[in-house]
Amino acid sequence: EYVLEVQEVKKHFKMGARKTVKSVDGISFAIRKGETLGLVGESGSGKSTLGRTIVGLYETTSGNVLFNGENTSNLNGKEKKELSRQMQMIFQDPTASLNPRMKVGDIIAEGIDAYKLLRGKERKERVIELLEKVGLHADHAKRFPHEFSGGQRQRIGIARALAVNPSFIVADEPISALDVSIQAQVINLLEDLQKEQELTYLFIAHDLAMVKHISDRIGVMYMGKLVELTTSETLFQDPLHPYTHALLSAIPVTEPKLRGTRERIMLSGDPPSPLNPPTGCPFRTRCPNAIEKCGEEMPKWKEIKEEHWVACHLF
Ligand code: SF4
Ligand code: MG
Repeated sequence: EYVLEVQEVKKHFKMGARKTVKSVDGISFAIRKGETLGLVGESGSGKSTLGRTIVGLYETTSGNVLFNGENTSNLNGKEKKELSRQMQMIFQDPTASLNPRMKVGDIIAEGIDAYKLLRGKERKERVIELLEKVGLHADHAKRFPHEFSGGQRQRIGIARALAVNPSFIVADEPISALDVSIQAQVINLLEDLQKEQELTYLFIAHDLAMVKHISDRIGVMYMGKLVELTTSETLFQDPLHPYTHALLSAIPVTEPKLRGTRERIMLSGDPPSPLNPPTGCPFRTRCPNAIEKCGEEMPKWKEIKEEHWVACHLF
């Protein structure tokens, strides 16, 4: 039933001779077919690194990534190539991820060419089909990326990802660089495409408001760890982890009946340096609820109710 299973995955980077940054530090979760899992956390929390590790742009330091039940590190060359077709990525900055010297049609066809899927007339027709699918026009194929707005460039990035018929997409902050007025359009496009093509999404964002509507479930990351994971509804209505409480309190309340029920929780200080993380719970230096045990022991990642995972000594 799971398309993707992430088991105790770590991605550590060596910094000089003696320091290690534990960007992703023992993360476990799974995503069902057709589901959207939202992933939120501050910049530097490791969410992009996790996304890149899942699609194979980075090798894991330890742990396993299973795709359709198969361990992705045990695949042969041909299977690896097929896997990299199935898993595509959409990036935050559409400008940086599109080659400025390539025509849009060729950018979209990059994957088609790399996997030798189509040639000639069929390739051309497929590019047009993709342009139209993402709300652009056939004659846009001949133009260059700089001739488009930010929102249109993100549509080009989406068309490029779709070109090879993937089943799983990691969208790494796909709307963060766009005007607020355009964000909803891109979200709607991603949702329509998901229904049409039975896509599964890992949708990364830095704040909860951005993932609320598109996500079936939401995971919250802090300093390389998942601290909470549950359904979108439960996360907003019955959050458990103190960090999730703080993130939620930062979202302006729009429903009138809820106004005044939520107090803004201001976190003290900045996140600690990833080169020098605190002992015990990584959140303890900013946690308003910390107890003595928090400085001594790392809280375990556990499912405390059905579909509700949390890592905190209070539960
Ligand atoms: Fe706060 Fe302790 Fe829970 Fe960490 S384990 S979030 S420091 S209460
Ligand atoms: Mg990032």
